[in-house]
Amino acid sequence: MTHNAVSRTTEFVYESLPTRVIFGSGTLNNVEQEAKRLGMSRILLLCGQPHESVTSSIAKSLGDIYGATFLGARMHTPVNVTEEAMALVKTSQIDGIVSIGGGSTTGLSKAIALRTDLPQIILPTTYAGSEMTPILGETDNGIKTTQRSPKVLPETVIYDVELTLDLPPAIAGVSGMNAVAHAVEALYSRDANPVISALAIESVAALLRSLPRIRNEMHDLGARSDALYGAWLAGICLGSVGMALHHKLCHTLGGMFDLPHAETHAALLPHVLAYNSPAIPEVMQRLSHSLGVDDPALHLYRVNQAIGATPALADIGMPEDGIERATDLALANPYWNPRPLERHAIRDLLARAYRGDEPKP
Ligand code: NAD
Repeated sequence: MTHNAVSRTTEFVYESLPTRVIFGSGTLNNVEQEAKRLGMSRILLLCGQPHESVTSSIAKSLGDIYGATFLGARMHTPVNVTEEAMALVKTSQIDGIVSIGGGSTTGLSKAIALRTDLPQIILPTTYAGSEMTPILGETDNGIKTTQRSPKVLPETVIYDVELTLDLPPAIAGVSGMNAVAHAVEALYSRDANPVISALAIESVAALLRSLPRIRNEMHDLGARSDALYGAWLAGICLGSVGMALHHKLCHTLGGMFDLPHAETHAALLPHVLAYNSPAIPEVMQRLSHSLGVDDPALHLYRVNQAIGATPALADIGMPEDGIERATDLALANPYWNPRPLERHAIRDLLARAYRGDEPKP
């Protein structure tokens, strides 16, 4: 029921992010015009392996404003990779970045922008949402640190649905659930506001209706368009309000056991939503209404099944003794969450996610 948002409309702070967004199909053709609009004259192209050929055709179309290409982006933005790319920025006298890829490639672009303040055009090819946030996580000697800086926010984001068509359904599904997690946590964020909550509800609905369709027909342009739209909105949510238990647990588990980012989000989200549900009745009611389901946490678990995401953290590398260790770490570094962190219940939540059981409050 949308009127449930009213209780939050009396007092809030809303700050919009300044990124220009171009959304559609075939929007890749806007790169040159956008680059010139931003005054770029020596462009560094960043791309992941699946986009090498599209990147070389962009390089050709850019003509004399093309500078160099760097292919080596890696998950969690290792500082040594950024330093390699920075050397190229200097030797090729780069004055602008165009990045085509998932969250890993976007992360590298943001890391360069942090060091240089160069303008960025980002073309996302997954649903991670990093392109819409002023957040950068970097890894040095195995330790990941996260910071916020307006410098890392791209000037332009070009969403081209066609760039996502070949994202394999298995990756698309969990990447989409990673985006759902941003939107769900925004709904019960400490600094939630009605604008972001409206985007979050729209985002969750768009993603949850499209991800199972992508699993069945990977080139379904309508479903891909809905998923990318939902992911964009989820990225705005992540960049605008603080996250809670779910993102902290994923960060803890990812760091401790080197678990894959998107898969961890997908497996854990139903359990964290179930854990928080007694403390957020209005959010649960709003999600139920929007999704047309009685139990939104169980619905997330069922969508995971429909997209073929593993429900069990055990299957993606978490050791059994990790349940206890991650519980200890979660409680050692407390942070805001709508339901206070209760040792016994957090341990249960992690044990259920470890085994892949259905979620329970
Ligand atoms: P990713 O960028 O590593 O991509 C996952 C895999 O999919 C890679 O092998 C990639 O080559 C492949 N791929 C990407 N797009 C493809 C396409 N269209 N077709 C075929 N294959 C494709 O992973 P991700 O989940 O997009 O991003 C994860 C990273 O992003 C992590 O480092 C995470 O910390 C970061 N992240 C940061 C933020 C933020 O706000 N700072 C937000 C979300 C994620």
